Amino acid sequence: MRSITWRLTLWYTVILMVILIICGLAAFWGMRYLLFTEAARRVEEAVATVQRLTGSEEERGNYNHVDLDEPELTSLADNGILLIQITAPDGRILNRSRTLENSFLSPGYSGPPVLIKFNDQDVLMAGSKLMGGALVQIAYLVSREEYFLLILASVLGSLVLGGLALAASGRWMVTRKALRPLQALTSTAREISTNDMSCRISLNGPRDELYKLAETFNQMLDRLENGFRSQQEFVAATSHDLRTPLTIIKSYTALLKRWGKDAMAIEEESIQAIAKAVGVMERLVSDMLLLARMQARPSLEVMPLSLGDLARETVREAQALSEDINIILDKVEQVMVAADEYYLRRALWELLNNAIKYNRPGGEVVVNVTVNSKKREAYLSVTDTGPGIDAEDLSRIFDRFYRGDPVRTQGKGFGLGLSLAKEIVEAHNGQIIVDSHPGKGSRFSIVFFDYGVSPTL
Ligand code: ADP
Repeated sequence: MRSITWRLTLWYTVILMVILIICGLAAFWGMRYLLFTEAARRVEEAVATVQRLTGSEEERGNYNHVDLDEPELTSLADNGILLIQITAPDGRILNRSRTLENSFLSPGYSGPPVLIKFNDQDVLMAGSKLMGGALVQIAYLVSREEYFLLILASVLGSLVLGGLALAASGRWMVTRKALRPLQALTSTAREISTNDMSCRISLNGPRDELYKLAETFNQMLDRLENGFRSQQEFVAATSHDLRTPLTIIKSYTALLKRWGKDAMAIEEESIQAIAKAVGVMERLVSDMLLLARMQARPSLEVMPLSLGDLARETVREAQALSEDINIILDKVEQVMVAADEYYLRRALWELLNNAIKYNRPGGEVVVNVTVNSKKREAYLSVTDTGPGIDAEDLSRIFDRFYRGDPVRTQGKGFGLGLSLAKEIVEAHNGQIIVDSHPGKGSRFSIVFFDYGVSPTL
């Protein structure tokens, strides 16, 4: 009884049984009422007929002349049996029908038809005073009606039982079929393991609630699989990126141990290499930390911020650091956005850094601030004259640890910069749009919808 199929079938059967029993009883009692009302009408008609037959003045007090078995009376019984008896006020029987044979109706009852027992049989009996004071009693044997009702009850009973059995088995089959996707869901869930998350429920059949459940389940698995895969990639990429500086530190430490104390040059080189490796690790760890913090949706300190000022300061810092690339602050429109300065500076820096890193020697980087006041949008764009990005790479550059062609990128980053920038910009109700022409350059634009006013901030 644990399965839903059984429980649904049971409930359905019980409810149907109650309904059928109520309908059956209503039909039975309705029919009984009709039959007995009709029989009572006949009895009353027979009483009236006897009154009429015995009613004339000259025949008063003499009831023997009336034939109580005459067709006018018997026809009223419609092939049934009428028992008629006339008794004097002192209890003497004055006349009776032959159908009574040797029996007598117990004298005394006068009134409308009632159901009583006579010789162990059910009869409808009525009684009435006749002219002259005598009492006529007429009983009608209801055995025909009872027989009909018995047949009706057995037909209704078998119909209820048969109908219930049919309906229950039909219901069981339909429910089982309808719930089949649930079984598929269970077995798929059972098959899923961390090694193989590729199992999916095959979607077919009508688009009902279970179809939607299976669809949602599959979507959930997609998300889980993606999350799990990116987790694995994350661990693999981090370990890989940490291994190189660690190997450097390890080998230079061994070198120092062996020769360092005696050779000044080796000591100097080792210290520099170790410091560089530590710097790389520090950058990676800080990027990862920031990314993790962004994904946990930090509460940003949002304030009105001039995009022009931010662009100006960042460009100045970049100019100081980059000797080879010409960094220009081009058109700057005055616009204020709602933003957390620390995070937004970081996002802009990631774009600028990439524009410098991936540029050709002697290339150019142009920074712009523009506004579309009709759409209430502000744009902060960074355009470079680098190699551009292939269409294939474009869809993936915002993924964590994704790095483009290793020949072009030459291990210049960890593949975290753009994913960080994206997280930051999205937290500011914005979006990063990329427009890239392979061989010519790329433009990364931060769009602030509604000037960065985000309901989540
Ligand atoms: P990284 O730290 O490796 O630069 P990012 O997430 O910032 O990681 O960038 C991902 C990849 O996108 C880079 O490896 C590079 O291939 C490509 N990319 C990003 N910015 C540019 C750009 N301005 N020009 C060309 N390629 C770029």
